[in-house]
Amino acid sequence: MKYRSIKGVQDILPPETFLWQFVEQTARDVFSLYGFKEIRTPILEFTELFIRSIGETTDIVEKEMYTFSDRAGRSLTMRPEGTASVVRAYIQHSLNQLPPPQKFYYMGPMFRYERPQKGRLRQFHQTGVEVFGLDAPEVDAELIEMLVVFLERVGLDGLSVEVNSIGCSSCRPGYRDRLIEYLNKGVSDLCSDCQRRYSQNPLRVLDCKVPTCKEYVKDAPVILDFLCEDCKDHFNAFQSALKKLGITYRVNPEMVRGLDYYTRTTFEVTSSALGAQNAVAAGGRYDRLVEEFGGPPTPAVGFAVGMERLIALLKEKTQMPDQCPQVTFVSIGDEAREVAFQLVSRLRKEGLRADMDLRSASVKSQMRRADKVGSPVVLIIGEEEIKRGVFKFKDMKASEEREISRDELIGFLKDFFNRDG
Ligand code: ATP
Ligand code: MG
Repeated sequence: MKYRSIKGVQDILPPETFLWQFVEQTARDVFSLYGFKEIRTPILEFTELFIRSIGETTDIVEKEMYTFSDRAGRSLTMRPEGTASVVRAYIQHSLNQLPPPQKFYYMGPMFRYERPQKGRLRQFHQTGVEVFGLDAPEVDAELIEMLVVFLERVGLDGLSVEVNSIGCSSCRPGYRDRLIEYLNKGVSDLCSDCQRRYSQNPLRVLDCKVPTCKEYVKDAPVILDFLCEDCKDHFNAFQSALKKLGITYRVNPEMVRGLDYYTRTTFEVTSSALGAQNAVAAGGRYDRLVEEFGGPPTPAVGFAVGMERLIALLKEKTQMPDQCPQVTFVSIGDEAREVAFQLVSRLRKEGLRADMDLRSASVKSQMRRADKVGSPVVLIIGEEEIKRGVFKFKDMKASEEREISRDELIGFLKDFFNRDG
């Protein structure tokens, strides 16, 4: 084998691609019910964009970005997430001038230099949404509802929703100081990453997955006790909106997110099948980011779904049928082969998946192939059939054979597949 794909970067092959298409189409359908429109932003952006939004001391920026200099010596990065680019596009194209709110969804590959393992890749895919221009807490609840509807519709169960508020620029600093004070007493118990980071970005320590850190932060002060009145009201109203929508959730005061741009609402959705450490989807509010990027003050909220994790869960229970030709021609002799060749073309234009064996194979081997690919209908033509203007029609499932005249072929096939679904 001369070439192999890069570690942590995967090929997605059929029939799994059918499952991807199904999940992506379901996302499009559900999101559009809630008024979201697709936005497509580039994979390459100036590195600065991600440093400024995600945050200098986050895992993503510190050690996970695919950053390189292009031929003009500019520092570029392959996007590690979607929000920063959508915010850039929102400002760059003055999308705030359209009537609010603006609701966008995106889907596509993201790149992070992580240690490849189950559920953790270097090229992975996210489907995400962003809402601009609304700070109403009902929006946050609606987003979670939409996420749950989507995940249920694709067939995921055992979902749990965890929510938290991480405050705003007026109340978080007070909490941050208290947290540093608490962490300071036990620094030596923290992992090396957290030791290095606790004074710069102490909230990240709460998000650390190392068991000793997890244990130590159990007794740490929680942000919810430090929220200012506005943030408290927002969080309460958000929760009552969740209740009105009938969404079961749990408040997890330790849940912060690994990105610095979040304010107030944060949330994660996990599936019991994944294990508690791995969220299928996560999101939150980022009311300051648009302004920090030079746009007008614009509250915003969004989430992203990790597609590989979702697909891995679905793969265990959802069997997507492989798409085989509906009709396969088997021809005997040169003349029949020509007739079949033209008919395949004709049927395809009529919207039927038709195929034939273009190797010059024996009838037996053509039949074997038709059977193997799983075609429900086989049409056999030989000299005799051409002379009489008919086909031998074989219903492979029912093992039935009959003759059909050339004139009635298309109508007959359409009826047959309509009836069979
Ligand atoms: P984690 O805490 O698991 O590292 P994260 O905070 O880095 O997640 P986000 O940046 O919020 O994750 O991304 C949202 C979702 O994208 C995650 O919940 C997960 O499903 C998925 N995701 C993140 N990183 C990867 C990866 N390296 N490989 C596959 N999926 C990923
Ligand atoms: Mg991560």
